[in-house]
Amino acid sequence: MTARILDGNALAAKVREDIAKDARVLTEQGIQPCLAVILVGENPASSVYVRNKVAACEKAGFRSLKFVFASDVLPEIVFAKIAELNADPSVHGILVQLPLPKHFSEDQVLEAILPTKDVDGFHAENFGLLLQGRKAFYPCTPWGVMKMLASEDVVIKGAEAVVIGRSNIVGKPMAVMLLAQGATVTICHSQTKDLSFHTRRADIVVAAVGRPKFLTGDMIKPGAVVVDVGINRLQEGPDAGKLCGDVDFESAKEVASLITPVPGGVGPMTITMLLANTLESARRVAAKAAGN
Ligand code: NAP
Repeated sequence: MTARILDGNALAAKVREDIAKDARVLTEQGIQPCLAVILVGENPASSVYVRNKVAACEKAGFRSLKFVFASDVLPEIVFAKIAELNADPSVHGILVQLPLPKHFSEDQVLEAILPTKDVDGFHAENFGLLLQGRKAFYPCTPWGVMKMLASEDVVIKGAEAVVIGRSNIVGKPMAVMLLAQGATVTICHSQTKDLSFHTRRADIVVAAVGRPKFLTGDMIKPGAVVVDVGINRLQEGPDAGKLCGDVDFESAKEVASLITPVPGGVGPMTITMLLANTLESARRVAAKAAGN
């Protein structure tokens, strides 16, 4: 079997077109969606992510604000900026690019953002609402994965789903979203005893590990849907410097029925869902202004 490839770029382009249309309508009503991005330090990967997010905003007709601080900035300066943005009614989404330098508590920074502007969906309040199956801003990467699965009519109800990774930003919310849609979910992590035992019985496998080519074809059930969240830069070999996922694409595509590539899979959908959350936040402000 050779798997069909789930093209995240194509899906993202389609969804972003709809987002841009809706943004235009809101802007005509006097509320232009606006995302504020805070970057601390000079981590090259973070700088690229921020640049891509700002560019995506501009392309969708959003306003974007970018604040860059030196890596040794005092936390209170960043907290003051967050407070200012929280209080600014023209700002609908606030994002602090992670990771932060060691002298910051990431939890405290994320909790400083108003939950109503937490378009990354990382605030404990939004995570709690997600757990309870209530309306919230959902973390962009797992939510993007759910949109990708929906776009291909992947049956989630009753499916055995295995998520490898239990981070707060990907693994855990991913598992919760799959559970909410009726999958039987297993979460695997570094302490899992026999990983292949779990992955080989999964109808849907999501790899969010951070290790290049970690999930190989022999670990996958024939016909499974394989989602590769990983973004790794290869350090050695003929492909050194290139991006690759957590899935060994070459062997996995021979066993799976549907697979996401890296690059061009989950990544473009993550930024798309960030736009979707920011648009939704702006919509809520517009509805409030209209007295709804
Ligand atoms: P993370 O916080 O480092 O979490 C990695 C998870 O993998 C942990 O739960 C860890 O288990 C687990 N793990 C590590 N080694 C393992 C092993 N040998 N067997 C089983 N599980 C193992 O990473 P993350 O933030 O979730 O990100 C995961 C990957 O997704 C990274 O490559 C990241 O760059 C990528 N990512 C991509 C996007 C996107 O837009 N596509 C967005 C976010 C992240 P423990 O908890 O036991 O340590």
